Amino acid sequence: MTFVTRFAPSPTGLLHLGHAFSALTAFDAARAADGCFVLRIEDLDQGRARPEFEAAIFEDLAWLGLEWEQKVRRQSEHMAEYESALAKLIERNLVYRCFRTRREIAEAIAAAPHGEEAEVFVGEALPPEEEQTRLEAGEAYAWRLSQKKARAVLGPAYFTLVFQDETGLTRAEPGKLGDVVLARKEFPASYHLASVWDDALAGVTHVIRGEDLRESAHLHVLLQKLLELPPPIYRHHHLVLDEDGKRLAKRNDALSLKALREAGKTPRDIRDMLGV
Ligand code: GLU
Repeated sequence: MTFVTRFAPSPTGLLHLGHAFSALTAFDAARAADGCFVLRIEDLDQGRARPEFEAAIFEDLAWLGLEWEQKVRRQSEHMAEYESALAKLIERNLVYRCFRTRREIAEAIAAAPHGEEAEVFVGEALPPEEEQTRLEAGEAYAWRLSQKKARAVLGPAYFTLVFQDETGLTRAEPGKLGDVVLARKEFPASYHLASVWDDALAGVTHVIRGEDLRESAHLHVLLQKLLELPPPIYRHHHLVLDEDGKRLAKRNDALSLKALREAGKTPRDIRDMLGV
């Protein structure tokens, strides 16, 4: 099986050293395995995605010496596919319409009894008449994955889901993030749904990304199971921190690749700074 990995940035700001670490780690792994390196533009957040940031992604990665498979997938151009994935989940009653506002969600989480579980939202569909009334009133809603229904549909398999990453085989806690939002009214995709779908479509065998997304793997293996998609192997790498020990964010402009390049750094310097 050919090794396929990817880098999936969101064009909502300039790439910084943390992105370079992720992209170089994935690219080097693909090279070492004589595999493929895929680039995907995660531009679902149309309020924040900007064409100039996308252009900067191409420029920065090419400057770093990366080469990627053509053609690049831009998520905003594939909404119909996410819609069909969502439709499968709707058909099997695995998602429900949740009309609660952010504030109501926070209140519901605070009011729920907490054991060892993380504080996450778990809810259920409204009675059909109430749902109908709210739909007719044009209210906004989110499509949330029902952990309860997923448990019922998968039975014991829900509790034996695992994912493999650099720490070995991990027993997934598919409910760790609760009833996550998979789509919204008039917007058929969220990061979780689109990313799992796209990785499978591209034949990604190894998902290489920062350890801040390790939590998502618990949910992603559940989505893969429900959508009958092959689970990839994960590699969650450490995050690049700034001088205060905080993870880099898009606001750390001084550490953007563009700024470093303009300050005279070379791609070799970037690799040396990152130890890759
Ligand atoms: N678009 C995500 C980000 O920029 C990457 C998600 C992933 O690698 O799965 O953080």
